[in-house]
Order: sequence, then C-alpha cells, then structure tokens
Amino acid sequence: MIEKEMVSLDEACRIVLDHTPLLASEPLPATAALGRVLATDVTALRDHPPWDNSAMDGYAVRWQDVLDHRHQLPVSGESRAGGSPEQSLTAGTAMAIMTGAPLPNGADTVVRVEHCREDHGSISIQAAATQGANIRRRGEDIRLGATILPARQRLRPAELGLLATANQTQVEVYRRPTVSILATGNELAPPGSVLAPHQIIDANSSSITALVAETGAEAQCLPPAIDEAQALFHSIKQALEADVALVVGGVSLGKYDLAKDVLPELGCQIKFWRVAMRPGHPALFALRPARHDGERTKLLFGLPGNPVSCMVAFYQFVRPALLQMMGHRNGQLPRIQAICAEDFSNHPGRLHLARAIVNYQDGQYRLRLADNQGSGVLTSMHQANALAMLDAERDSYHVGDRVTAQLLPSGFFTP
Ligand code: AMP
Ligand code: MG
Repeated sequence: MIEKEMVSLDEACRIVLDHTPLLASEPLPATAALGRVLATDVTALRDHPPWDNSAMDGYAVRWQDVLDHRHQLPVSGESRAGGSPEQSLTAGTAMAIMTGAPLPNGADTVVRVEHCREDHGSISIQAAATQGANIRRRGEDIRLGATILPARQRLRPAELGLLATANQTQVEVYRRPTVSILATGNELAPPGSVLAPHQIIDANSSSITALVAETGAEAQCLPPAIDEAQALFHSIKQALEADVALVVGGVSLGKYDLAKDVLPELGCQIKFWRVAMRPGHPALFALRPARHDGERTKLLFGLPGNPVSCMVAFYQFVRPALLQMMGHRNGQLPRIQAICAEDFSNHPGRLHLARAIVNYQDGQYRLRLADNQGSGVLTSMHQANALAMLDAERDSYHVGDRVTAQLLPSGFFTP
C-alpha cells in the first residue's frame, strides 16, 4: 500500500531499519577483514605476553641481592628478545636484559639501564630503581581462552593486530550486501560521451556507486534506464537480483516519474515515498518479500534524481541500512553541536539538510553554509563536510546560534 502521508526523517529511518535484515556470516582470513564486523566472539588461543618479560632495556635482578650487596652487582649473561625463557639468574648477580626479553627465573625486578652505571663487568644501581619495577606479566594483555573481541565488533587496524597477537588467522564476519545502482532518465549519457543537445552526463551513477563502496558494500552499476514503463520494469527487475536495489531518479511527481508505477507489478510493497526533508523529499522505500525458499527479501530505495538530493537521501536511509546488514550497530552519520559562524536565512517548511562546512576552532565547532544550496548543485557537496539540520520552523540563523550537524564520513577535514 502506498502511504500518501509524508513521513518524518526519524520515522523514515525507523521504517527502513525495522525492515533491514542482518545478513548471514562468512569465514574470511583476518588479513582481508578490515572494516568488516565480527559475527562471533573471538577467544585467545594463547597468553600474551607468553611469559613475564622486561618492559625496558636494563638489568634483571633479585631485589634482595641489590639490598644485600649495597646496590652493586656483577653482571652475568644476558636475556634478549627471541632468547630462551628457560634461563635462570645466578644468585648475587644482575643479567643484562632488553625490552621484550623473557625475565630469567629468580629475577623479580628490572632496573632501567638509565639508572645503572656499568664498570668492569659490574653495575652500580642508582636510588631511582624500585623493587618489582619494569616487568610485563604473562597474560596481562590477553589471557588464553578469554574473549578478546565480542560479536558485532567492527574490525579496525587495532583489532586486526589483536587477532594476530591472539594467533587467530580466520574470522567469521557478516557478509557484504550486493547493491545495484540504476540511474533513470532519457537525458542521461555516460561520462566521456559526446553529448547530443538533449543530453546531460549521468553524475549519480558515479557518486552513488562511490557512496556504496564507501560503506563496504558491493556496488554493481547497471546501464541507465529510459523513462518508459516497459524498459523501467525490465531494468528494475534486473536490479532486484541484488540484495538491495537503488533506483535513482524517476521517483518524483512528474509525468515521466514512472518508477512507483511499475514497482507493484514487480511484487514490491512501497513503505513510504515522501519524506519531510529538503533536499531528498521524493525518497522511496519498498520491500520485495521472498518469493520462494532460498530467496531473501529485497530492499529497494528510490532516490531523487537531483545530484545533491540523491546523495543526501543516501546518507539518511541507504547508508544506515547497508551498514546494519553488515552487522554495524549504528549506521547514522555522527552528529555534533556547532555554532553558526555567520548569519544565514533558511527556507522553512521542512527539515533542511543544508550543505555545510564545519571546522573546529577555539574550542568549538563553527559552521557556515556552502554557497549555493540548490539540490542540483553538486559543487555544494564538494565544499561540504557536514549537513546542517536546519529547523523546519526557523527562517533565519545568526552568528553564535547553536545548530546540529551531521558529519559526512568521507574525511572530516578543515577546509
Ligand atoms: P528526476 O528525479 O528524474 O525528476 O530528476 C531530477 C533532476 O535530476 C533532473 O534535472 C534530472 O535531469 C537530474 N538527474 C536525474 N538523474 C540524473 C543523473 N543520473 N545524473 C545527473 N543528473 C540527473
Ligand atoms: Mg528523470
């Protein structure tokens, strides 16, 4: 059923996420899993460190020997990284030891090399040294059998290092959805074309493919469809072979905006098609339930054709859905409170996601708007690093006013 009512942005996000499944998991070598999300807890296959070892370059000693010999000890042997953890410290002596080297049996303290003077094979220890110092204990970082990473953890560089430390080479992670991108419009020609007078370059296939790739999902860009019901039917049918179909353009109220009309014939149930926001207001979300065993429910998003609108709508609904499918807990863009660095007017009536430039200065985020807020003006997305959430009720903002902004993920930078 088509809901005629316009839904709020929050409501639209809730509807999308309520219908977005978590995908199945797949095994992967840890080295190929950067950015993926764990589907299972990971336990350590070994203690780390595997034995007590030195945190500093210095001398391993028994502290009682230090006291008994008035801080003067002969040096016997050395323990180096990669050396045997089976060595023992000869009573009444100090053993040279390097960072990470096993602590010899019998030693209880490492005295830093900076706190010793070595002379003719003996050391004299300065007062700064303390008993029990500079030792890393076996298992203090990771314990054999302990859960080191929980399911739903995103694998960042630190987690990949941790997996390696725990000697785990395989991980079970959520699968990446396949996402087809279908631009629509008789006016479109691919980049590089010699343009006929009625044509414009298809920008959306490029930007949306990149936005999909940025989430970690697998983008599959289809050839654009013309604004003709039969052609659209066949192209959308093909797009629905992926886990998620993105139909870009043709979802508005124009005579040739035909996407909505062909969706019911393809078994798609439209959940909403208008959202109370600007830009991106003709944004559509539909489901195609599984038609047989083994097929999954497909998600379909209709994004407005205006190049800014489709990117903004993607960030609001599609990105959170793709991330949720891959196991991420929160796919919404992070929000900050900023203050206006200049006066500007707002066109009230709907929540306005204005392209903005935010930078951190003098202890606060300061925000100004991109020059031209037209929904087809892609240079505004190029300038922006944030989307200011301007109130539907307000017609102006002044220097110092507080405003909430969504940070865009592709590099938060100071322009
Ligand atoms: P539509 O949503 O199809 O009504 O398109 C709205 C506006 O966006 C029109 O000016 C279209 O020419 C333009 N547009 C639609 N699709 C694209 C595209 N793939 N690349 C660039 N502009 C587009
Ligand atoms: Mg169109």
